[in-house]
Amino acid sequence: MQYQTTLRQPLEFDGVGLHTGAPARVRVRPAPAGHGLRFRLDGAVEFPARADYVVDTVRCTVLGAEGMRVSTVEHLLSALLGCGVDNALIEVDGPEIPVEDGSAKVFADAIEAAGLSTLHEARMRWIPTEPRVFRDNEKLLVVAPASSFRVRMTIDYPAPVGAQYVETEVTPESYRAEVAPNRTFGFLHELEALVKRGLAQGGTLENAVVFGPDGPLAPLRSPTEPARHKILDLIGDFALLGAYPQCEVIAIKSGHKLHCTAVRELMTSSRGDEAFTAGLRPIRR
Ligand SMILES: [Zn+2]
Repeated sequence: MQYQTTLRQPLEFDGVGLHTGAPARVRVRPAPAGHGLRFRLDGAVEFPARADYVVDTVRCTVLGAEGMRVSTVEHLLSALLGCGVDNALIEVDGPEIPVEDGSAKVFADAIEAAGLSTLHEARMRWIPTEPRVFRDNEKLLVVAPASSFRVRMTIDYPAPVGAQYVETEVTPESYRAEVAPNRTFGFLHELEALVKRGLAQGGTLENAVVFGPDGPLAPLRSPTEPARHKILDLIGDFALLGAYPQCEVIAIKSGHKLHCTAVRELMTSSRGDEAFTAGLRPIRR
């Protein structure tokens, strides 16, 4: 049996958001067994990190309640789930989680440095009872029963990214080595349009991989960094199940919108249902 965990010490991050460019401060505090991963925004509104609190999925995953929102939660949630943290209170002052270097490495390194405490309750797992298929035009997501959490990711972008396939079994060790360091990416020709739409305001060559017509403008951390970043994003969105996923996910060209739609539907149809009875409503403080 695996036991629930929490952080041994609080974590703190400062920085600007990738899309808003706004400064933000995040404190991730230890929490007791059964608490789960929860957000507290500007000390005012608190809610669980679950797919029923998703309010937007354009270019990043945005959670919110009672008119307050926090953008780009996926990299921090990915690090917490990937490193095996079941319980934490994520306090955010500002509209968006800091982008750091565009990957989850800063978060995963901080979690490793803080260390985990084992709690005296069994880990809450989300286990599918049968394979499920989700489609959105050319995007496909299959979630199937498995003995561990595995992800197979296929992407297919225009050159110079092209088609890439990466698979991983998610453990804290594989997550830190193969997933966390991979940065968000974009295309030079798209940047202007994103900035006009008010996105990527905090984007720089230090926190994103930008592909020009001939290749990346700065060296990649892995030849398959884009596909690996998509796995990083998927793990963050699957943290919104509200329990540790025990399933195999086969993703083809999927993104935040399809991930969050699938997770919302999966939450209502699984053996993990008892995981979702606590804290269904946001708490106003
Ligand atoms: Zn991302």
